[in-house]
Amino acid sequence: MTAQEILAPTRMMPLIIDGLRATGKLHCLWEKDDPEVFLRENAVKIGAIAAGAHIAVNGPYMSQFPNLKIVANFGVGYDSVDANWAGKHGIIVTNTPDVLTEEVADTALGLLLMTIRELPQSERWLRAGFWESKGPYPLTRNTLRGKTMGILALGRIGKAIAKRCESFGVSIVYHGRSAQKDVPYRYYSSLVEMAKDVDILMSVAPGGDGTKHIINHEVLQALGPMGVLINIGRGSVVDEAALANALKNNVIFAAGLDVFEHEPHVPADLMACENAVLLPHVGSASIHTRNLMGQLVVDNILAFLSGKNPLTPVSETPFSRW
Ligand code: NAP
Repeated sequence: MTAQEILAPTRMMPLIIDGLRATGKLHCLWEKDDPEVFLRENAVKIGAIAAGAHIAVNGPYMSQFPNLKIVANFGVGYDSVDANWAGKHGIIVTNTPDVLTEEVADTALGLLLMTIRELPQSERWLRAGFWESKGPYPLTRNTLRGKTMGILALGRIGKAIAKRCESFGVSIVYHGRSAQKDVPYRYYSSLVEMAKDVDILMSVAPGGDGTKHIINHEVLQALGPMGVLINIGRGSVVDEAALANALKNNVIFAAGLDVFEHEPHVPADLMACENAVLLPHVGSASIHTRNLMGQLVVDNILAFLSGKNPLTPVSETPFSRW
């Protein structure tokens, strides 16, 4: 018999818990008197895991569950799940693509405007009473006018950002592992070469070993003293020590960050930079969008329980393989 019980290892939004609890098969690990004993006695019954980003669902973790068939990840980025390991062991991983694309692209644009036009700094000026006591906030040295943006990782969100930026009159180029057909933007095979040619570097890259610290000192130096970095992808993509140094020493002009390498920790060196705009990973964080993401987690697991194909398997574990 197929194992059909569902495990939620860490707290998740009520919509997910309620949707899965309705099956009568959900186990919330934080509600168990002794989670370790529960896992020892029940691991064999678990067929599905609903995973948030706060737990590393790696090989050793998944191998506790001999009958695991699906890991439904809350979020489009699934770098906290070892999808390659899952693929080799007959486990499907699903994520939550598309439903968050427009929300994250909106946030990226907000963060870009905040950063390049110093909007948080000018608001702080007003709240400090300086408008009355010292006069207007100084004119900003940077602007979006006449600028070129290089997008690192032109996927679903990258394309939604590009569309918005085109309507702002910003020229678009991009870098990824390969050139894409049917994309009207210039492709750079080298991130450093792209950084040399652009005014704004917009990172939408996923996390993981392949992208760790690819935005490093060399890339920041190439971006130059009027250059702006925006990171809406994953914190691990940026070498934060190199970035703090670049911001402090005017190697680049400014940075806007929604994501950090060791969230919720933000390095003190970055906090100290007045030319950094820092957001607490709010890219998709509206009730509207988080509900759509949560429902997709539920629907993927319900599809599995009823013997249907999960809706959004990731590329490492396409359903066709099973
Ligand atoms: P997607 O459609 O899968 O796009 C990912 C893009 O990354 C692809 O175009 C891929 O292009 C590129 N890529 C992968 N590995 C790369 C590498 N080593 N170097 C350069 N480019 C690489 O994903 P999406 O829906 O746009 O989401 C992108 C990421 O945004 C997610 O993985 C997540 O980390 C992040 N995100 C953040 C928030 C937030 O709240 N801040 C919210 C949602 C998502 P190639 O295959 O051509 O390289």
